[in-house]
Amino acid sequence: MKIVIATKNNGKLSEIEKILGSAGAELLTLNEFPDINLPEETGQTFLENAVAKAVYAARKTGMSALADDSGLEVEYLRGRPGVRSARYAGVGATDEENYRKLLKEMAGAPHDQRRGRFVCVIALAEPTGEVHAFEGSLEGFITEAPRGADGFGYDPVFFIPEKNRTCAEINPDEKNSISHRGRALRKLKTWMEERLP
Ligand code: IMP
Repeated sequence: MKIVIATKNNGKLSEIEKILGSAGAELLTLNEFPDINLPEETGQTFLENAVAKAVYAARKTGMSALADDSGLEVEYLRGRPGVRSARYAGVGATDEENYRKLLKEMAGAPHDQRRGRFVCVIALAEPTGEVHAFEGSLEGFITEAPRGADGFGYDPVFFIPEKNRTCAEINPDEKNSISHRGRALRKLKTWMEERLP
């Protein structure tokens, strides 16, 4: 079985391949389909965005398609940055600009109100129109200042109590084993192993 990942980012392909590995599917990306460009993300939830991208790619390629959407939800900010995580400080903002904006909005918030979670939804759309979705999350706290040099996005300001470190202070394999994306991908893998011949 061939599955196209609704992205042009080859980094995403290797990340997904690393976890799905032997689940029995050959993975490609939209780089193999230069004429297909994903529409802008306009959904109000991670699920809506992931499903929209997967369905679009399945329809355009005639193959099964996988798409993900992820981001950070902070209780104190009533779920923001949420689906706007990548562009929180504006379209084209850097990771640092995004997390600095978050820290500014959280200034003065006491520890018990700094709870946040990373969420990832992965959608698999079949050419028949059938869609399956898998969600993973990682609970933590927003720090008062950035710490650590690994990772990307909000990693330096996301503290994981069970590791006693921020996401930017743990190595990538350690992160994959507990991350929202790793968890969603392992749910997909289990489903594929049960479903595929
Ligand atoms: P997406 O590419 O639309 O899924 O956007 C995800 C955005 O959410 C990223 O640009 C980051 O800002 C944030 N994000 C998602 N997952 C992570 C993570 O594991 N660490 C740090 N930031 C993340």
